[in-house]
Amino acid sequence: MATLTHPLQPTTFYLALPTKTMTTHRQSHSHLHSLRIKASMSSNKPLPGRKLRAAVIGGGPAGSSAAEALAAGGVETFLFERSPPSAAKPCGGAIPLCMLDEFDIPSHLIDRHVTRMRIISPSNLAVDFGKTLRPDEFIAMLRREVLDSFLRSRAESRGANLISGLVTDLELPISSLTAPYVVHYTANNARHSLAVDVVVGADGANSRVAKSIKAGNYACAIAFQERIKLPDDKMEYYENMAEMYVGNDVSPDFYGWVFPKCDHVAVGTGTVRAKQDIKVYQRGIRERVKPKINGGKVIKVEAHPIPEHPRPVRVRGRVALVGDAAGYVTKCSGEGIYFAAKSGRMCGEAIVKASEGGDRMINEDDLKREYLRAWDAKYITTFRFLDLLQRVFYGSNAAREALVELCGDEYVQRMTFESYLYKRLADGDRWKDAKMVLNTIGSLMRCRIVGR
Ligand SMILES: Cc1cc2nc3c(=O)[nH]c(=O)nc-3n(C[C@H](O)[C@H](O)[C@H](O)COP(=O)(O)OP(=O)(O)OC[C@H]3O[C@@H](n4cnc5c(N)ncnc54)[C@H](O)[C@@H]3O)c2cc1C
Repeated sequence: MATLTHPLQPTTFYLALPTKTMTTHRQSHSHLHSLRIKASMSSNKPLPGRKLRAAVIGGGPAGSSAAEALAAGGVETFLFERSPPSAAKPCGGAIPLCMLDEFDIPSHLIDRHVTRMRIISPSNLAVDFGKTLRPDEFIAMLRREVLDSFLRSRAESRGANLISGLVTDLELPISSLTAPYVVHYTANNARHSLAVDVVVGADGANSRVAKSIKAGNYACAIAFQERIKLPDDKMEYYENMAEMYVGNDVSPDFYGWVFPKCDHVAVGTGTVRAKQDIKVYQRGIRERVKPKINGGKVIKVEAHPIPEHPRPVRVRGRVALVGDAAGYVTKCSGEGIYFAAKSGRMCGEAIVKASEGGDRMINEDDLKREYLRAWDAKYITTFRFLDLLQRVFYGSNAAREALVELCGDEYVQRMTFESYLYKRLADGDRWKDAKMVLNTIGSLMRCRIVGR
């Protein structure tokens, strides 16, 4: 048992940690490393004789990426995760190409390289959506248990102390700008406490950290998914194919999906408007794919909330929320893995920068300036745009027919994939952009959405 005393508070805290996890062995990581060097004039107090201490609650993509950036940047970091490495966060596991490079995800973690994406309308009009992909482009499909344990281990290897335990409570400092936050948690059937300077809430959609700091609520969708092992001949069809189904039968406001995994497919759907009927919609998507999954065996059933928009408060005091805890899932596609990892990393780097490599205390303004503002500047437009698309195209079967019709256009496909795969606005062609707008209006009119 290791004893930890917070230098800012005379109380002694006991922490059950194997000695190995207390050791920090940092590997060189040039991108993160460079953050430590920056020395700027700061009004923040230096921390004589010790490093800034951070607790990251939750070891999903958001938490592990935050912990990795913090530890590599010189901050003493504790990463809390309640689930064992084999546990899988309910998820489709689709990630964009740019994440592989940006987060150095090794290719052996990828189950499937999806190069064919089929979108199927309420009237069963099917459009192939991957026609404009270049030979080296694909959507990577992973199992979350595989991705999450990899990212967590990497954070540990960069110096984060991984604590396998459930955080039960976060005690806030009553007054002082430098007094510690106290993380209460259970591990190995015992209660423990740890005092820290900074907290990163990466504990997902049901975030306890968000509740502790009264960050406010967000609307949530519920997503339901069955993992189905298919006979070999049926699995062949999904070799490199993912399907999206739209229609009132599969969801009143989202889409149903079939995503291929190593030896099975994930079949699921989601809704925000009619959560009580989620099982009805799941039956709907199963009905639509029936001939393709006949003979399959359900090996896992899972469900989880998906946040619909960012929380009213994402930073309070020296606590910052990232990933699902903050509400970073895009509408329309329901994508959250990349944004979780990215926000975790951005937040970790922001703390490293503001604390000058862990040598100074930080404050709320630092977190707002270095993390929140940078995040909003980079992504808020994307989130708003996808919100608008969801409102226009997912509201009725007529609108969904228009969506599928539009997806047949190669220019629309290229623009969509460019922005999804690389998380950047594709270089458009003004003439083609104007044509795309006209086509959109045309499709909506044909499907009787506009002008009613
Ligand atoms: C059915 C479904 C399908 C989806 N499909 C996709 C997809 O294909 N692609 C995509 O990009 N996104 C998808 N998403 C969204 C994606 O899963 C999330 O956006 C992403 O997991 C967010 O990552 P995170 O690290 O913020 O949170 P999480 O992945 O939820 O991780 C939070 C972690 O915190 C831990 N934790 C929570 N509370 C505590 C506590 N008190 N103490 C200790 N540890 C704690 C949890 O065990 C968990 O490991 C899907 C979501 C669902 C529900």
